[in-house]
Amino acid sequence: MSSQSASAHPSATDDVVELCRDLLRIDTSNTGDTETSAGERVAAEYVAEKLAEVGVEAHVRESAPGRTNLVARIPGTDPSRGALLVHGHLDVVPADASEWSVHPFSGEISDGYLWGRGAIDMKDFDAMVLAVVRDWQRTGVRPPRDLVLAFTADEEAGGEYGAHFLVDQHPDLLDGCTEAIGEVGGFSYSVNSDLRLYLIETAEKGLEWLRLHARGRPGHGSMVHDDNAVTALAEAVARVGRHRFPIVLTPTVQAFLEQVSEALGIELDPTDPELAIAKLGPIANLIGATVRNTANPTRLAAGYKDNVIPSRASATIDCRSLPGQAEIFLEQLREVVGPDIEIEHIQRQPALETSFDGDLVAAMGAALRAEDPGARPVPYMLSGGTDAKAFAKLGIRCFGFAPLRLPADLNFSALFHGIDERVPVDGLQFGVRVLDRFLRQS
Ligand SMILES: [Zn+2]
Repeated sequence: MSSQSASAHPSATDDVVELCRDLLRIDTSNTGDTETSAGERVAAEYVAEKLAEVGVEAHVRESAPGRTNLVARIPGTDPSRGALLVHGHLDVVPADASEWSVHPFSGEISDGYLWGRGAIDMKDFDAMVLAVVRDWQRTGVRPPRDLVLAFTADEEAGGEYGAHFLVDQHPDLLDGCTEAIGEVGGFSYSVNSDLRLYLIETAEKGLEWLRLHARGRPGHGSMVHDDNAVTALAEAVARVGRHRFPIVLTPTVQAFLEQVSEALGIELDPTDPELAIAKLGPIANLIGATVRNTANPTRLAAGYKDNVIPSRASATIDCRSLPGQAEIFLEQLREVVGPDIEIEHIQRQPALETSFDGDLVAAMGAALRAEDPGARPVPYMLSGGTDAKAFAKLGIRCFGFAPLRLPADLNFSALFHGIDERVPVDGLQFGVRVLDRFLRQS
């Protein structure tokens, strides 16, 4: 803990602010294209240096020039136990400075917040991990089991150059990891001044990016034509876009809704959970997509000249499937699309779901309650994806646990990839204290 730091060194709660600020000042915008992305190497070198300062050697692995990943292992006192993976990505989504109140890469501190792209997604957690490890190294604290730290590139574009690269090409660096923590979980949702729910991610929807292909007879745009690929595709896309798939509550979402309804005193109708979800305020849009499979059309492509009917047309559909639902969902989608449209898979990452129990979960709850007596941890499902999808391929049990106490009036979910992304400084320091307690008991 901070008070045990040697006097010549900053406490972990001071260090985390400096570390986060430094990281925010490194522009690691990931455009989805290596040509225009930058800064991941600079950020990884910064992390390596901060670890080297306290005697931790890091392994640096690049999937492509500048696409830098870093892994380090801190030996635990009981080597017979499986290692705990603690992972955070170093890239961020781009930010348009003209839309922001402060420059997104200036790392400004004002109004009790540290501002910048990545402040909550997720350089805050990267800094917390570094602060705790640096403090432990300086004060001689050893974790109960091996800690494997992974700082990754490319999470914001799917992780091909980051977590998936590490898992596929360098699994030796992750040897022995049985459980993991990373984003997006451990943040507070205030019910009242005495009760805060801390949402811990125990599940993630799967990702199915599909391309629909329609084919027809090519022809001249001036003539009568009843076999037009563009028309057929447009009809299928419209049907998919308007379709609502049935409600399916997995154990995580069921538990979340029950606990939240009880805490908020709202009635939960299991056949129509969306009524209760609508009353959740700022986190409604975080939770809303986790009660059903979804399919959103995102791209269209057809034609090459205004007066030529093309022989083919295609569309991309971003589908997110619930755990255990991928096959049923694809059958349902097939029905909606119709028999004449071909469906191609362009990206597929299975959903994840683990149970909300065991020693690691107990350690999360104990650490939160020690720092916030009004804390109540609840499991939830993320509708998006994280690097956990990559690490789960190695059989690692993944949680989203990046502890953060937030002010009651902060619209946290809107800050993800949003304008004026910022993290409360005291929330960041709270996170360090919780993470320290948690890692000692993990
Ligand atoms: Zn993130």
